[in-house]
Amino acid sequence: MVKDKVVIITGSASGIGLEIGEHFAKEGAKVVLSDINEEKLQGSVNNLKNKGYNVIGTKADVTSETDLQNLVHTAKEQFGSVDIVINNAGLQHVSPIEEFPTQKFELMIKIMLTAPFILTKTVFPIMKEQGWGRIINIASINGVIGFAGKAAYNSAKHGVIGLTKVAALEGALHGITVNALCPGYVDTPLVRGQIADLAKTRNIPEERALEDVILAQVPQKKLLNVSEIADYALYLSSDKAKSVTGQAVIIDGGYTAQ
Ligand code: NAD
Repeated sequence: MVKDKVVIITGSASGIGLEIGEHFAKEGAKVVLSDINEEKLQGSVNNLKNKGYNVIGTKADVTSETDLQNLVHTAKEQFGSVDIVINNAGLQHVSPIEEFPTQKFELMIKIMLTAPFILTKTVFPIMKEQGWGRIINIASINGVIGFAGKAAYNSAKHGVIGLTKVAALEGALHGITVNALCPGYVDTPLVRGQIADLAKTRNIPEERALEDVILAQVPQKKLLNVSEIADYALYLSSDKAKSVTGQAVIIDGGYTAQ
């Protein structure tokens, strides 16, 4: 499906990005993992290399245009092209709007909206020239419905779905598809951190925060597994999905059906 394709994944030292990296590597893709956290990144790269996969790691802070350009340059230099980009880096902060630090708001928009824009802008000429490309933006159900306390996260995720549609239109005649994946609650360090914060603020055990607060809102009463998101990213990158573009695909255990 993605054998020999070169894939760049931002924020992939852990969680969803890392799982996508392993899924693609298992299918024979050439994988460029990248993250702001160099130590965690190196550990993840070594782990995949020890399994025999074709993986390299490049430190990149997605708020830096130079880092993003270097990331693309490294992928081209090491593997010869860039076929697939997964904009995955993300950050969560929950607070009422009137207490939300403006700097934090701007940082989160930079990470989850401006960075996908810059990476799209940087790889589009390469993808157009080769007449094939896949861009997958990891959005969220926070990109299609509102959540109190998540002003920046919701704004960025709604925004990246808008970017997805525009890029899909501009790539449509060049063999490029651009889609957003919108997961509900996935079992990752990001969500475990959210559960720990909830438990602390409400002074309840983490298990209760998970069961009574998070899962109480999910019809299927379970967290999603990272591999479900990675499987979908593989499908969207394959030729089977060549006519799927400009979509925000929701995987949420029924959350937004309510
Ligand atoms: P995670 O915290 O495990 O991974 C996020 C990664 O992004 C981390 O490794 C972190 O170091 C990296 N990162 C943060 N700031 C960065 C920066 N400036 N430059 C480069 N890397 C940076 O979280 P995750 O749950 O795997 O989240 C991955 C993506 O999926 C995010 O965009 C998140 O919004 C989205 N998402 C997650 C869930 C969920 O339930 N976990 C649901 C919907 C969407």
